Amino acid sequence: VNRSTIVRAYQELKAEGLIASDIGRGTYVIYNNAAVENTKPRNFVKSLFWHEMYSESSKKNYDDIISKIMNIDGNNRIISFAGGIPAPELFPREEFEKIQIELLKSKVENIFSHSPVTGDKLLKKEIKHLMLNRGVRIPTKEVMVTSGSQQGIDLIVRTFINVNDVILIEEPTFFGAIQLFESLGAKVVGVPTDEYGVRIDILEYLINKLNPKFIYTIPNFQNPTGVSMSIERRYELIGISKKYSIPIIEDDPYGELRYDGRQLPPLKALDKHNYVLYLSTFSKVISLGLRVGWIIAPEGVINKLSMLKQLTDLHVNTLSQHIICEFLKQGYYEKHLERIRKQYLLKRDIMTNELKRNFEGFKFENPKGGFYIWGKLPNRVDLNTLFKKSIKNGVDFVPGNFFYKNNEKNDNFIRLNFTYPKKDEIIIGIKRLMDSFDEIKSI
Ligand code: PMP
Repeated sequence: VNRSTIVRAYQELKAEGLIASDIGRGTYVIYNNAAVENTKPRNFVKSLFWHEMYSESSKKNYDDIISKIMNIDGNNRIISFAGGIPAPELFPREEFEKIQIELLKSKVENIFSHSPVTGDKLLKKEIKHLMLNRGVRIPTKEVMVTSGSQQGIDLIVRTFINVNDVILIEEPTFFGAIQLFESLGAKVVGVPTDEYGVRIDILEYLINKLNPKFIYTIPNFQNPTGVSMSIERRYELIGISKKYSIPIIEDDPYGELRYDGRQLPPLKALDKHNYVLYLSTFSKVISLGLRVGWIIAPEGVINKLSMLKQLTDLHVNTLSQHIICEFLKQGYYEKHLERIRKQYLLKRDIMTNELKRNFEGFKFENPKGGFYIWGKLPNRVDLNTLFKKSIKNGVDFVPGNFFYKNNEKNDNFIRLNFTYPKKDEIIIGIKRLMDSFDEIKSI
């Protein structure tokens, strides 16, 4: 720029009161920040206590059940029926090895770089095809790749939920969702379920009373009950959502893991009016650790969610996205799914047979898919005592109260995962569980 432009710029800055000149000091910027002027001075204390620094929303303490489950699963002494974890012996090792070598050879510039906030284009295309198999036809602009479904739920609630908004949940339900909703100040209200899924009559009553912002549901092989919502209930739920304009968060990590009976369409496939935000994940079928899931939502919502995603973690790990994309593109997904379905069916049958044959008084329904058996212990057993004894005896499960708001309901249910332990471990683990049961019974 030439000199006269600089002189003019200085004159304008001076006229706006942003700079000043003093003989001997030169020209300097005037510090004038309304935010600073209007802030009350803080009372400084002599020592720093971190717990006093936490924000209001972080002050509430949550049970660290998820971390506990993850830690215990690394403990060889304990046979774990606690986690929602796929079988490590069924990880598609050879396919992963082949894909990663190919990626390192041909796509090294891409796999270690950034990806778009809403996800790699090719992966979104593969997800779009996958959704067609689930009966959902959407354009790729309605897909967003997330770091697992947990992040999907988080992005949705942080985008939509104000403090004191009501969210209706099935009760019991996935504790990760309950804790997340509550951490953002939502009022979580449980709706009872039966063998067909959420009770629509009670749901409608609560909608009229509470005017909720969302309904959160896991229609396929629910966590923890293993129940799949009947087709009639699915239509009824979609009808209620439309009638009252209450959108649904549909969480579907287990839908493709069906071992008996016919596949049912997700709510999203029945949703003609865009009332469903759909979440799914590769965690339960391909790998938990790669952290790849997705959201299906109207384009405008995806755009809004992506602003938050950008601030949270920019995008999902690029290498993970490429591995999953190739896995789908090269046609491994269906074969892998078939293989794990067969193995999980065997594991489910081993566990249910062991329980039926040997564990008198333990009541449960055979789940038709998914990861879990949800069963009720005889009332006379104290769940807490059994839990402690079982851990001591080397077997772990999740006590049912964790699946209720504030862990408040304890009707002697427990959740047992049958996919993670090896087949022989299932037999040993159930034996340990029964021994623990017998030991506390005879106290
Ligand atoms: N939703 C449900 C119902 C789940 O069971 C889980 C995992 N236990 C998740 C979400 C989170 O899955 P992800 O690993 O994809 O974050």
